[in-house]
Amino acid sequence: MPLRFKCHSLLYTLCLWLLFFLVKPTAALAQEVQAAVLFHDLKVLAADTMQGRKTGTEGNRQARAYLIRRLKEIGLNGFRPDYTHPFTQGQVQGSNVIAYVKGQSERYIVVSAHYDHLGVKDGQIYNGADDNASGVAAALQLATLIKQQQSPRYSWLFVFLDAEEAGLLGAWAFVSQPPVPLKNIVLNLNFDMLSRSQKKELYVCGTAHYPKLRPLVKRCVPPVGLRVIFGHDTAHLGMQDWTAASDHYAFHKKGIPFLYFGVEDHPDYHRPTDDYENIDKDFYLKVVQYLAQLALLIDREL
Ligand SMILES: [Zn+2]
Repeated sequence: MPLRFKCHSLLYTLCLWLLFFLVKPTAALAQEVQAAVLFHDLKVLAADTMQGRKTGTEGNRQARAYLIRRLKEIGLNGFRPDYTHPFTQGQVQGSNVIAYVKGQSERYIVVSAHYDHLGVKDGQIYNGADDNASGVAAALQLATLIKQQQSPRYSWLFVFLDAEEAGLLGAWAFVSQPPVPLKNIVLNLNFDMLSRSQKKELYVCGTAHYPKLRPLVKRCVPPVGLRVIFGHDTAHLGMQDWTAASDHYAFHKKGIPFLYFGVEDHPDYHRPTDDYENIDKDFYLKVVQYLAQLALLIDREL
């Protein structure tokens, strides 16, 4: 009997180990970026059919419809049945798209990316593949990843902002009429231009204002071949201070800590040549893999 018990116990241990190895790859899979989906989302949003996604145009509406379809596919809920939050700022009428994943607490992390771009000028379509289909497709990947987690510690908002190019109007609208109390928002992660860098450099901007975030960001090791650099967030840099350069600024002005991720300007920046063909897929995938790991780290440790 004692021997039999021993065998039994050995078998039990073996089973546990087997289970561990069987389950482990599944767990790892839940942290993986779906590269093909990532590129597809970017390609669709930056296609000529979207006509440069300028606020108030049919192309912009189509981009919004695509986003809503994707959010439904991923399984996220919205505060409204169609996920849209229309706004008027001055002469401009736009619409943000907002979805969420409910976590263990009522404290929120907001992932933001603007989906509008410059539209058509002089017959040329400004597709805005890098600016900012890249940020939007990345945010969709993070939405997928956070949704796959058993029980995230924070609740997560995924906010696709309109009218950034007209002066961060969607972001101002969001913070003036937030779907959750602003005091419950602990962090904004803003993505704007992620998909190309000759020097293979991604900047993280914001820790000069919120130094407490720095050690946490530093703990996330980027994939080989990607350099993540702190910077572009101090006033003495003048135009190279990116504190007010994208939607995170509206959060910052409300006292909400932010981390903005983006690349330096490139030759196709705000030109009709900012096309899908000109993104750097290898670089972009590494950036999104890095952001995915960082998001999970933030959820666990912030
Ligand atoms: Zn942009």
